[in-house]
Amino acid sequence: MDLKYTRKNVYKEADGNELKKIYDFAEGYKAFLDSSKTERDAAVTAKKLAEENGFKPFSFSEKLKAGDKRYFINRHKNVFLISVGTEDVSKDGVRIMVAHVDSPRLDLKPNPMFEDSGLCYLKTHYYGGIKKYQWTAMPLALHGVVMLPGGEKKEVCVGEDESDPVFYITDILPHLGAEQSAKTLGKAIDGESLNAVIGGLPAVGEDDNEAVKTAVLKLLNKKYGITEVDLQCSELCFVPAGKARDVGFDASLISAYGHDDKVCAYPEMRAIFESNSPHTVVAVFADKEEVGSDGTTGMQSKVISDVIETIAASFGANPIEVRYNSKCISADVTAGFDPAYASVFEKRNTTFVHCGAAVSKYTGARGKSSTNDADAEFMGWIRDIFDGNGVYWQTGELGAVDAGGGGTVAKFIANLGIDTVDVGVPVLSMHAPYELISKADVYSLYKACLAFCK
Ligand code: MN
Ligand code: MN
Repeated sequence: MDLKYTRKNVYKEADGNELKKIYDFAEGYKAFLDSSKTERDAAVTAKKLAEENGFKPFSFSEKLKAGDKRYFINRHKNVFLISVGTEDVSKDGVRIMVAHVDSPRLDLKPNPMFEDSGLCYLKTHYYGGIKKYQWTAMPLALHGVVMLPGGEKKEVCVGEDESDPVFYITDILPHLGAEQSAKTLGKAIDGESLNAVIGGLPAVGEDDNEAVKTAVLKLLNKKYGITEVDLQCSELCFVPAGKARDVGFDASLISAYGHDDKVCAYPEMRAIFESNSPHTVVAVFADKEEVGSDGTTGMQSKVISDVIETIAASFGANPIEVRYNSKCISADVTAGFDPAYASVFEKRNTTFVHCGAAVSKYTGARGKSSTNDADAEFMGWIRDIFDGNGVYWQTGELGAVDAGGGGTVAKFIANLGIDTVDVGVPVLSMHAPYELISKADVYSLYKACLAFCK
């Protein structure tokens, strides 16, 4: 019996066989990341993988039975994977795992296009919490959809293929940056200056003071059939261009755009595909977490209740009873300890990279404000599940008391009367264009999800 608690480093504990599993799992995760930069992309990838794993489309009017595997794609951006078990849902409830697949980025404004000084630009409105200075002077890709009059939808993805052009937001050179450097970091880049260069070649023979914009519109019209006004019926965003990459001579970590929160969505998905659970399991990929979880595809929407009610109705169960007996892992990232910024952490109560799945009893800010707080009984249940299945896990808060804080979707599920706890992965440089995680931690979360489903 260990009288004292010590956090374990997964890499130190792992034997050669386990290490191979950790590195192999990371390959699947990187492939998922590369095809899932936006929530729409993630929904497409999830649907494809779900179908490969025997999942069929879900309907709210169907009567589900044990063994059924279903996927429901809510408005192209919010995914529900449903695996119906043999246990009685009235007593056993539903095992729910939620992660979000939206990540901070630069959305286009509704009327985004302009020309100035020989360059054509698209104006952006940032989505989620970004440090604006990190998004300049780097290659960007454009992802999303544009609706044509009459309902035809054009998919756009430019900047990911090696042969594609990329897009670019300028910054001032240091030689002329004295005034900018004197500003605080948050004010150094103005939101209205986040305009991406998308062209520079003027249309030939046009007597037009916007000849570059004209030429770009001609290109867009040729490629997608769109005109400028169609951009008002679009969802397009700039994300960092390029793929997930291993980090370190030992390749023990991964740098990528959107670990928050695909690093939780992927383990969740693998667990529901592989677990063959006697419980009814629902894995949710939510949208809009980074902007407050509102709307039809966010976790504050009633859709999760509708899915649970459909499951309950299938078995003639009382949906209230099903909800009260359900359990949820709210899988989201947390801030891993970073020695370069040690002062904003409290070392005893923070998570560390390589030390396994990060369990956060509560999140919130300014005195635990606006958070779910998992009760001792549910924490005890989760501990037994994880320890009983060899899951490496650690606990920690998101930063020191009064240093700031954050929130997750946990409270929205808990508000439905469902026991919920945050379990995720520690991230370094969270919300940066390229975030950093440990392969050992994403693998540990996968094992945690498998244990939860079992
Ligand atoms: Mn998150
Ligand atoms: Mn986030």
